[in-house]
Amino acid sequence: MKIKRKGILFVVSAPSGAGKTTLCRRALERLQGIEFSVSYTTRPPRPEEREGVDYRFVKEETFLNMVERGEMAEWARVYDHLYGTPIFSLDKAIEEGRDLLLDIDTQGASQIKAKFPNDTVAIYVFPPSLRALKERLTLRDTDTPSEIKKRWERAEEEVAMYPFFHYFIVNDVLEDAVKELVCIVEAERHRVSRIQELKW
Ligand code: 5GP
Repeated sequence: MKIKRKGILFVVSAPSGAGKTTLCRRALERLQGIEFSVSYTTRPPRPEEREGVDYRFVKEETFLNMVERGEMAEWARVYDHLYGTPIFSLDKAIEEGRDLLLDIDTQGASQIKAKFPNDTVAIYVFPPSLRALKERLTLRDTDTPSEIKKRWERAEEEVAMYPFFHYFIVNDVLEDAVKELVCIVEAERHRVSRIQELKW
């Protein structure tokens, strides 16, 4: 039999340093039929990042033109840079029944949830403790000390946003957290309410 359903937007947010990027990457390796939603950003690429794979790296002017033309489903200023998700790729994925994983901040997550209430599953990733978060922020050698300080100041504000999400994961043991994310994705795919059509 074949089941037709719309694509689901799995939105994953966390305070910076909670290990969300690694968690998302590992879960994507395990899951079938889900793609990473590539965001636009005005931030310069980090050494290991690839254009079109991790982000679309654009100038602020290009980004703001897209916002003006209504091409962003959501966007936010995170620290000193702009980040956004193009609406076209979301509409297309939902329509075609393809699932997407969005690694975005809490401001973006609440915009996506408001715009696509029936097609969004919002997942919040907690660090095991605030101390662990601080350690992870300090250990990340890609950021300057002033960036680390800003991320730390914002982390507590970000944690306060968790009640707006559907699910939570505590990223203590990475392997367990990956399993939990995979389980959430699989369970949400099997909601009867998502069935649009059955073909025998
Ligand atoms: P980073 O610069 O470390 O890659 O990302 C900084 C923050 O921006 C992270 O919390 C990340 O999830 C978030 N982010 C990445 N892409 C988007 C996006 O398209 N929209 C929003 N709102 N946040 C994003």
